[in-house]
Amino acid sequence: MTFELTTKEEERALKLHHDSLVIDCHSDIHLHVIRARGQGKTHVLEKEFYERWVKAGLNVVVLNTMAKFGPEVYPYRTSPVHNFLLMVDAINQELLESPEHFFLILKPEDIEVSRNSEKIGIMLGLEGAEAIEMNLGFLRCYHRLGLRIMNLTWHLRNQVADGVAEPSNSGLSNFGREVVAELNRLGIIIDVSHLSKNGVRDVLDLSKQPVIASHSNAVAICDHQRNLEDWQIKEIAEKGGIVGVAFLGRFVADKDPTIKNVLDHVDHIKKLAGSDCLAIGPDYTDFCQDMIISSRRVAGPGQPVNDLNIPYAEGLEDVTNLSNFTRGLISRNYKTKEVRGILGENFLRLFKGIYKDIC
Ligand SMILES: [Zn+2]
Repeated sequence: MTFELTTKEEERALKLHHDSLVIDCHSDIHLHVIRARGQGKTHVLEKEFYERWVKAGLNVVVLNTMAKFGPEVYPYRTSPVHNFLLMVDAINQELLESPEHFFLILKPEDIEVSRNSEKIGIMLGLEGAEAIEMNLGFLRCYHRLGLRIMNLTWHLRNQVADGVAEPSNSGLSNFGREVVAELNRLGIIIDVSHLSKNGVRDVLDLSKQPVIASHSNAVAICDHQRNLEDWQIKEIAEKGGIVGVAFLGRFVADKDPTIKNVLDHVDHIKKLAGSDCLAIGPDYTDFCQDMIISSRRVAGPGQPVNDLNIPYAEGLEDVTNLSNFTRGLISRNYKTKEVRGILGENFLRLFKGIYKDIC
């Protein structure tokens, strides 16, 4: 991907990228890990991803996916609780197998460790509240297991709220309100990507802590149901929260998405709310696209299947291209502090503000 950068600017961009704290705020890689381990493989993160992540300059990866997928992902599926525990176990086994390459992020200081070492920090998340059923006790247990970020919903309705694909656009249920309060109390980051508009409205009204939309872009640039309206971006930012820009093509542009379109989202969000609210949530699933498609096909009505074959933005096709994003920011005259903020410092600020030492 070519930008109109001088040799000096090229050098500055690459140095800045690899000097900076870089955090991927949303990755589904553990879907692949669980499947591979189910086939008897071990050291999957180390063998298949470590080098790619080092090339990408990543320090921290937030593994934040659904526990409601079917047996094509989770063997012997019985319930989202069962699936989430299998997910935690798979990640723990991977970390135990490769302690020289990975470790679990439990507190903000751990991110500082990842900044200064060769090890990549893994943060545990959950995409959708199905796995807490109707019991905050599950949430408290998951917090003890390392859960530090949680989406309230995926596309569809659950016991907490509607997702973006539900026409009723309902906000938080009574139980959902209790979940928000408990997430605040525990110091778990609330993620509003995938949540209905009224759900986001309720969370912004109720949450005592800032929130993240970890992998969502701007409706004003690409009118997709998963993207955020201007009021949502502004209010997330006003509360000290952040928006992780996604590289998944269908969230970037209607057709032929490129890195330039991604940068248009960044520019728009900055213009609306300032660069302190920006982060990156690429949402790469290039390594397990077959599984994602088959999962959605069996998941029933409301599943957006038709747009799954739209590729990632040109120039950001997979994680190894990540430094192109920094080159793009430099081409649009972003200052060093802004670039560092977007790549990772803004997420760290959010986590520092929310984290509570109550384990
Ligand atoms: Zn998602």
